[in-house]
Amino acid sequence: MEKFRELGLSEEVVKTLHSMGIETPSKIQEEAIPYVLEGRDILGSSMTGSGKTLAFASAIIEKIVPDKKVKAIVLTPTRELAEQVSDSIKKFSKGNLKVVSVYGGVNIETQIRRMSGADVIVGTPGRVLDHLKRETLSLKKVEILVLDEFDRMLDMGFSRDVGRIIDECPKKRQTLLFSATISPDVDHLARKYIKNPVEIEVESQVDHKKLEQVYYDVPDSMKFSLLVHLLKEEKSHLVMIFCSTRRNADAVTMNLNRAGIPAKAIHGGLEQNKRMKILEEFHKDNDLKILVCTDVAARGLDIKGVTHVYNYDLPAFSKDYIHRIGRTARAGKEGKAINILASRDYENFSNIVNREEVEVKAMELPYIKKIDMIRPLRKSRGGLSRMGDHSRNRRMPQRSSGRNYHRR
Ligand code: AMP
Repeated sequence: MEKFRELGLSEEVVKTLHSMGIETPSKIQEEAIPYVLEGRDILGSSMTGSGKTLAFASAIIEKIVPDKKVKAIVLTPTRELAEQVSDSIKKFSKGNLKVVSVYGGVNIETQIRRMSGADVIVGTPGRVLDHLKRETLSLKKVEILVLDEFDRMLDMGFSRDVGRIIDECPKKRQTLLFSATISPDVDHLARKYIKNPVEIEVESQVDHKKLEQVYYDVPDSMKFSLLVHLLKEEKSHLVMIFCSTRRNADAVTMNLNRAGIPAKAIHGGLEQNKRMKILEEFHKDNDLKILVCTDVAARGLDIKGVTHVYNYDLPAFSKDYIHRIGRTARAGKEGKAINILASRDYENFSNIVNREEVEVKAMELPYIKKIDMIRPLRKSRGGLSRMGDHSRNRRMPQRSSGRNYHRR
């Protein structure tokens, strides 16, 4: 608690955090909060789970004086993140501020009524812009603008919408911009909106001592069988299985269910309502313990208690690997990342181990029973056909000799 006081947070906020079990600042909070409270612009690089929400929310809860006008706006790429961030700000401010989340896919009239007298709006760019056009929202009094998961908003094609929304905010304001990665493109665009920012970069929060990373090298045709075997053998609580495409996520989910293992897929192809429902189910203590996801759908979601991350397909970008494994071994808990490698993953895997500071142990392939995987039907020119197994016509390179990959 003392640490939060030293960063400049008020006694009231420190007490609220204490009541929420938040006692010691995370790295991003330690580095950002003093500048945030000074009123500086921030260009922050950090991921979900790093505690970035409190880092930017500290400005909002300490500085905004409620007077029924929107004084702060937070833009997020997805509805789930908007809900998550608005819930956090509500809790941090102990109900002193009226915080309203605003996103598409829900009745706009009801939303307009809920927005009346809001101090803080947390929303997705499309719907926020919609309200600006209808003049049901004014940003003329905004003092603090937060752009959360900025890189993802750009990936999702929100660049122009974000620009238009920012044009509606006063020039004199504090801008806090957070992005999981800051590529040259992100950096270039970000600098249009922030002035002389303090740049803060926080490495992945993964505790490498608590996270075990392993890989199995299997023939393509045995990938699914090994997955089922491991899901049955490993003692897990919550599991996330990552696939490279929606189609693969759907195929893996369907086949797990066929094998009597309850799992749900979460990817961008699902309507947001459905995604929210699945997440709720996953959070509740019931039978659903396995989520099969794509990178885009999973980023930004705060899912606690994930014990196992499976890479069913290895990601093409090494940063995505770091994001994926960062879903487990959080907050001092242990976690395991299991990579299921077939020939098509070799190139991606070697990029990861060459670029990132990871330590991945080779595992002996256990005896596994072959389970045939059925691919979902898809439309082809000639009508419906089964999707070809993506392992077809692929030459198996020489299997690795069980080498451990180390790089520190
Ligand atoms: P975020 O990265 O902001 O999405 O935060 C991830 C989760 O960590 C949220 O559930 C927060 O309530 C929680 N959290 C944030 N800061 C801390 C902290 N300093 N100590 C413990 N938990 C925290």
